[in-house]
Amino acid sequence: MNATPPPVIVPQADPGAAYRAQKEAIDAAIARVLASGWYILGRECQAFEAAFAAWQGARHAIGVANGTDALALILRGLGLGPGAAVATVSHTAVATVAAIEMVGATPVLIDIDPDTYTMDPAELDAVFDAPPPGLPPIRAVIPVHLYGQPAPVEEIIAIAARAGAVVIEDCSQSHGAMVGERKCGRFGIAAAFSLYPTKNLGALGDGGVLTTDDAALAQRIAALRQYGWRERYVSDLAGVNSRLDEVQAAALTVKLGALDAATARRQAIAAAYDAALGDGPLAPPARRPGTTHVFHQYVLRCGDRASVQAHLRGRGIATNIHYPVPIHRQPAYRGRVLLGPAGCAETDRAAGAVLSLPMFPELTDAQVETVCAALRAFRG
Ligand SMILES: *Cc1c(COP(=O)(O)O)cnc(C)c1O
Repeated sequence: MNATPPPVIVPQADPGAAYRAQKEAIDAAIARVLASGWYILGRECQAFEAAFAAWQGARHAIGVANGTDALALILRGLGLGPGAAVATVSHTAVATVAAIEMVGATPVLIDIDPDTYTMDPAELDAVFDAPPPGLPPIRAVIPVHLYGQPAPVEEIIAIAARAGAVVIEDCSQSHGAMVGERKCGRFGIAAAFSLYPTKNLGALGDGGVLTTDDAALAQRIAALRQYGWRERYVSDLAGVNSRLDEVQAAALTVKLGALDAATARRQAIAAAYDAALGDGPLAPPARRPGTTHVFHQYVLRCGDRASVQAHLRGRGIATNIHYPVPIHRQPAYRGRVLLGPAGCAETDRAAGAVLSLPMFPELTDAQVETVCAALRAFRG
């Protein structure tokens, strides 16, 4: 019989802590919306869009209901649907692939680089050269900046451009990550950001935002998110309902103001974990040279994951696995979604080995030290 594990003293994520850290400002912003009597697509959404566009350095930002919709609306805005294939990865949140299928396009899943867990450009090149039989032409590529680590987006854009495909960046885990001096999301034709509560910029419910510099695309997507309306009650395009509400927008504007400091805190926690791992049996996560990682997750690769997880759990430390089952192995997609020519062997290996440590800006120094002590004590 196993003894009952001790209570969790270090949770893996804690969106409530982010609210409490800015409670007064968020409560005031929400009270302002409630009193205004205007709850959908008003001044708060406009203010958030303007602030997010400025922070991101993009010409246009459009608030939507969630990150999945942000991706789907970009695809729709580009006219991509049935008859188009979209290349992405299998080692991602299922949302990336769900968005592609939502618009009727065909996903094709590319293997990852084992060190950074992001799309392997050589595999992308190979799928353009030798697409699986029956695949419609690949019109778009969606690299995911997974865990806050930039994918090799410039290489991916060069490969896609040779084949006449556009690149849409999935920035749902990478708010503020940089390639050189340029933010992730500034490379492709458009970028999608989830604002789910645990994301680096998180709402108090669902939310999403997308950015682009293309004015015509922005105008189409702004219409598509609200029934394709040109003006109230007159649809030019067949659209959907995917709006960011005023309460979320007001709270997000407050949280955006603290995002850079929150990112710096994530990076400091990551540095502390790195130091604690030292030259022990578990290696710190790799960083792609010339890029800035924003540590949505701090992910270890474990030979024996269950033993690391048990060691930490025995010290009151919670962990999580992002993601335990690659999309091409999930019941809804198994045997149905197409893969690149070499398959997804690295994706399969990663799914069996990755382990996410506690990572959120409000971790106290004492909690970080609890994790560090446990990492130092792990001798495999
Ligand atoms: C969270 C996430 C999404 C989807 O976001 P929702 O807001 O939950 O719809 C898409 N892609 C990635 C990589 C994500 O992490």
